[in-house]
Amino acid sequence: MSTIFSKIIAKEIPADIVYEDDLVLAFRDIAPQAPTHILIIPKREIASANDVRADDEAALGRLFTVAAKIAAEDGIAEDGYRLIVNCNAHGGQEVFHLHMHLLGGRSLGPMLARK
Ligand code: 5GP
Repeated sequence: MSTIFSKIIAKEIPADIVYEDDLVLAFRDIAPQAPTHILIIPKREIASANDVRADDEAALGRLFTVAAKIAAEDGIAEDGYRLIVNCNAHGGQEVFHLHMHLLGGRSLGPMLARK
C-alpha cells in the first residue's frame, strides 16, 4: 500500500529534498524533532523493517552511506547524531514506507526515556 512518501518520490507533493539517487531519497522531516531531522528512504515501497528482502541490501546499505554524507554536509558528524528506524506499533512507526531518521544538531540524551 502506497504512502505519502511514494508521492514525495514521484514529486507529486513537495518536500525539501537534500539527496536523491537511483536507490534512495532524503528529505527534511515536516515536523523536525532536532535542528537536523532528515528522513532517508528506499525508493522501493518497503512497508517496514519486517519486510526487507535480500535484494534490498544495496538500498538499505545506501541509507547509511547517505546518512554519513548528509551528516558531514550539515556539520553534525563530529558532534554526533542518531539514526532511527521505527517498526510497527511498539516502534512508533507512523508512515509505512521504511525510513531512517537522521537526527542531530543538539545533544539528544539517552536513547529511550528512562523511568
Ligand atoms: P515514523 O514515526 O513513521 O518513524 O516517522 C514518520 C515521520 O514522517 C515523522 O517524523 C513525520 O513528521 C514525517 N512525515 C510525515 N508526513 C510527512 C510529509 O508529508 N512530509 C515530510 N517531509 N515528513 C513527513
